[in-house]
Amino acid sequence: MTIHRSPTPGSASGLRRLEPASRLQFLPGVGPKRALRFERLGLTTLEHLIRHYPRTWLDARRFVRIADLEPGELVTVDGTIHSAAAVRTRAGRTDFVAALEDGSGAPLGLYFFGQPFLARTLRKGTRVLVSGELDAVEHRMLNPMFEVVEGEVADLLHVGRLIPVHALTRGLTARGMRKAVRLALDAAAGDVPDPIPAEVVAAHGLGPLCEALAQIHFPDDEERLQAARRRLAFEELFLLQSVLELRRCALAQEGRGLATAGPGALAARARAALPFALTGDQERALAEIVADMRRPAPMQRLLLGDVGSGKTVVALLAALHALEAGHQVAFMAPTEILARQHGATLAALAAPAGAEVLVLTGATPAAERRALARRLEAGEPLLVAGTHALLEEKVRMPELGLAIVDEQHRFGVRQRATLAKKGVIPDVLVLTATPIPRTLQLAYYGDLALSTLRARPAGRGRLVTRVTGEEKFPQVLEFMARELAAGRQAFVVVPLIEQDGRLDSRAAEAEHERLSGHPLLARFRVGLLHGRLKAEEKQAVMEGFAAGEVHALVTTTVIEVGVDIPHATLMVVENAERFGLTQLHQLRGRVGRGAHRSVCVLVPGAGAGALARERVALMARTDDGFELAEADLRMRGPGELWGVRQSGLPRLKLADLARDQALLEEARDAARGVVEADAMLLQPAHAALRATLLAHYREPIELALAG
Ligand code: ADP
Ligand code: MG
Repeated sequence: MTIHRSPTPGSASGLRRLEPASRLQFLPGVGPKRALRFERLGLTTLEHLIRHYPRTWLDARRFVRIADLEPGELVTVDGTIHSAAAVRTRAGRTDFVAALEDGSGAPLGLYFFGQPFLARTLRKGTRVLVSGELDAVEHRMLNPMFEVVEGEVADLLHVGRLIPVHALTRGLTARGMRKAVRLALDAAAGDVPDPIPAEVVAAHGLGPLCEALAQIHFPDDEERLQAARRRLAFEELFLLQSVLELRRCALAQEGRGLATAGPGALAARARAALPFALTGDQERALAEIVADMRRPAPMQRLLLGDVGSGKTVVALLAALHALEAGHQVAFMAPTEILARQHGATLAALAAPAGAEVLVLTGATPAAERRALARRLEAGEPLLVAGTHALLEEKVRMPELGLAIVDEQHRFGVRQRATLAKKGVIPDVLVLTATPIPRTLQLAYYGDLALSTLRARPAGRGRLVTRVTGEEKFPQVLEFMARELAAGRQAFVVVPLIEQDGRLDSRAAEAEHERLSGHPLLARFRVGLLHGRLKAEEKQAVMEGFAAGEVHALVTTTVIEVGVDIPHATLMVVENAERFGLTQLHQLRGRVGRGAHRSVCVLVPGAGAGALARERVALMARTDDGFELAEADLRMRGPGELWGVRQSGLPRLKLADLARDQALLEEARDAARGVVEADAMLLQPAHAALRATLLAHYREPIELALAG
């Protein structure tokens, strides 16, 4: 093959070198109007475009003769346009057809939908390279990619290679995107600052950044593509780990925190009044937490345990140590319902120790709220339960020594940073029932110490999980009726459906209507709970359910976390395929809390695909939350799960936490080495790293780099 890539515009066609930070409109062929389209993808500068990595690559490297074409294979043909014409379709569109010949036999038909302007480019006699698949039915190529050959020279951007597939948006074509990326690379790739210090690049055999950037878009071969991917994935993981290491180092400094644990007399009184003994895991976790609280460096600890493993008691006993030392404690839940429920639970547990527990939420009446706020502002050592708004609102807690956060996945690094900004840094204990896969733990919570509760407290009834088809729903209802008649309670969970960007509760409302009118459930009261109800309405429904006046509760994932209803023995999840496995696991944890046998019935929707069904079926095979979490990570990626989005941490575009564990550990070691040698990144060799981190991740690292 005698096709060569045309000289880069930067050298031959006189394109100026541009700064990576230059705006895209200065790129030839872009201009202000098209720049706006790129902006819709969040791309405003050349560097953004250079960092807009392909989603995948099409392999069109195999050249074949037209006579040898087989349908359904992506290949490239080198030929000459034999005839070409715009055609009007009956639908009133103008398409473009051409015939291509290469001397091997009959010409090959090319068909382009709605692109009559191609008549100017693909004229009779033009030599072109065409990459595409022969359509088995039409015996021609539909919308193939092409490249005009002039002399022996073609750009080879769109054909005959590993062709990058970039994310696009309306008004941007794949061609236009590839062209712009090529130009951006030629104009500025050499000047994109490398955030990875040279010593790390050398030690990990990473190669030059500009080469990786060029190869990730337009790889010469698979080997170089893999090398580029590894280099750029390493960069992502290295930045992520640098953020965590900087935070960890900054927080480890003594004097930034407080010693917040008293000797334990209050906790001992509360323990003596418990109707059960702590499990070994609970004992160990409590000891770890209290030891950490006694150290003057701020605690950043995760208490990880399945639903029902008894985290609340452990947290309460830790809280009593802080109160005893004269500090205030905030206990934050993700929803108001949970905040109130925690308030009640904590109050009961703390009463024997003589400690008072307050509840402060959006629903707290103004007068009571003011009175509470006054006591807190005066520094009274109190335990206050509330939502995360406790921190973000104006409530001042000058003696805050311990912040307990229930459910980390709505409370990311950003919120932890907010806490840290309030002067001396309180100890933070994050409770979570979401089993986090090890890789994710390392990737996103690497700066947190970890205590784990594995054993479930004794005295729990058995919990079975069944997966069943929608057609069996009547039997499910019959079973439900029997359970309800025996004095048990049931949850029916339906997914929230997002409509026009808003979460829609109509599915829950419709299901509530259907079930409350159902003859099988005629004797029972069916309640409805979803996020759009007012706080008082929610509270009334929950109280009715907790008191047993409401027998079955149709709900969305409002109840996902925490709610404790000991008589609930049946959990039905409709359209179960729409939930993550960890989410299903948490939902299932809502039942099986009392002594009776409990059942979780998962009902995939009629439209659920085979893969989705298989995923749901895994629920019946294991009740190991960690195993489910790993499976979720493999099958759905880290995306929304585990709050990665809201974490404020670097996003991963190329690194794949399900696959790149070894690379992650390498990056962690590298980041640790850099931060240990230069905790504020003031050495010249770390200037680019510092600048990158400050530009993108200011919030989570402000504390570390602000001095
Ligand atoms: P989690 O918050 O981890 O989901 P909870 O703290 O709400 O779990 O505990 C669930 C239930 O188990 C509560 O009713 C609690 O009183 C009870 N419990 C906690 N620890 C023990 C234990 N060691 N033995 C028996 N029951 C326990
Ligand atoms: Mg809990």
